[in-house]
Amino acid sequence: MPERRALFPASFDPMTNGHMDIIERVLRLGIFDEFVLAVGENPEKSALFSVTERVELLREVVADLKNGHTLTVQALEGLVVDFARDMGATAIIRGVRSPRDFEYEAEMGFLNHHLAPDIEMLFLIADPRYAFLSSTLVKQVAQMGGNLDGLVPTRVIERLRSRVGR
Ligand code: ADP
Repeated sequence: MPERRALFPASFDPMTNGHMDIIERVLRLGIFDEFVLAVGENPEKSALFSVTERVELLREVVADLKNGHTLTVQALEGLVVDFARDMGATAIIRGVRSPRDFEYEAEMGFLNHHLAPDIEMLFLIADPRYAFLSSTLVKQVAQMGGNLDGLVPTRVIERLRSRVGR
């Protein structure tokens, strides 16, 4: 049987507890042999960390989650569907926090379905505890020296503090 592989493409700038929740829930489903987290550049957002830094940080944070699961982190290159196909992924995972997210995700989902009908888009509804949480908000709180407990993993807090100098 071919490997069942899923891809979670995101900016992860930085990764938040919302991303973490999606990752844990996909692993818990146990329907994939390999789960690949792909760190991409989003030209619409200004990045705090480079892709290389984000890949490194994500690897450190998810190391404890592995626990028998095949979980890998890579830098995303090119179109998501092409990247997914090249690695033999049959599913692309995304999270949905709100109707606004849904509008954006549906648009991307339709496009991806058009480009690659063989790859399924799977959407997980956000945990209500994290439905307000975005990397953009986290960066704003960090830049203002606010409390990041409960928003991002501890390692990410450390990295954010040293990056913004607060
Ligand atoms: P992108 O720049 O690709 O939107 P993000 O890192 O902001 O990258 O988000 C990537 C994916 O993770 C999206 O599907 C988004 O909806 C999901 N996501 C982000 N934050 C959360 C959260 N708090 N709960 C659930 N899903 C989330």
